[in-house]
Amino acid sequence: KTIIDAHNLSKTYNADTVPVKAVQDVHIHIEEGEFVALVGPSGSGKSTLLNMIGGLDEPTSGSVVLDQVEITKLPENKLIDFRLHNIGFVFQSYNLIPVLTAKENVGFVLQLQKIPKEEREKRVLNLLHQVGLEDKLNSRPGELSGGQQQRVAVARALASKPKIVLADEPTANLDSKSTANLLDIMAKLNKEEKTTFLFSTHDIRVIQKARRVITLVDGKVESDVQQTPK
Ligand code: ADP
Ligand code: ADP
Repeated sequence: KTIIDAHNLSKTYNADTVPVKAVQDVHIHIEEGEFVALVGPSGSGKSTLLNMIGGLDEPTSGSVVLDQVEITKLPENKLIDFRLHNIGFVFQSYNLIPVLTAKENVGFVLQLQKIPKEEREKRVLNLLHQVGLEDKLNSRPGELSGGQQQRVAVARALASKPKIVLADEPTANLDSKSTANLLDIMAKLNKEEKTTFLFSTHDIRVIQKARRVITLVDGKVESDVQQTPK
């Protein structure tokens, strides 16, 4: 079953005098349960592509279909709702809510989704434990290191059991142990819940775990290969 279908996707930024073609005519087709790394030099368009696939950024042209819904045609309120129920984001700017504790940040989305309190507590504690933050449950983002905030953001993205997880350099601020832990969590969810993962990365250890590697260069897909994960 196709879960991500990006068709003729392009994005041109007109911020400066010279337009920047960040993404050019990209076609990507991802089946449910794939575990895909997006690689390429800095500035090759990885973040822009992830933002468009996640409906956070509007393409200049082309379409994005997620789980048979053409999100590029959805009005804003429907799009927000679709994202809430289907996509988990792990982005570099953690977007954690400063006044909420780690526990509350992770539980927040589940509250929006009206998941009952008991189930919510269970999932939140379980995930924060898995990312190694069981002793930081009541800390606010300002009291956590960069790496720790990143791990709260990961727990939050996975808490709602989204069909699709989009991650932009999810291990960029993590030490080796946290990186290995995160990869384990991702692999487990991928296997047990059939969660589809698409993540940009520069980390060779993360790339090796992918079953498919898409390389972007100058906003275009340069290669798209299957591999046996290590
Ligand atoms: P990557 O994630 O691979 O580093 P990006 O998607 O961030 O690549 O950037 C692709 C290109 O688009 C770069 O040339 C970058 O400078 C440009 N770009 C990204 N975001 C913006 C923006 N908001 N306004 C103008 N140019 C941008
Ligand atoms: P991680 O714990 O994920 O390796 P970092 O590599 O970002 O996190 O930070 C290394 C260590 O420095 C952390 O274990 C943390 O205890 C400490 N640290 C860094 N920044 C902060 C901060 N703003 N507040 C509290 N501790 C911090």
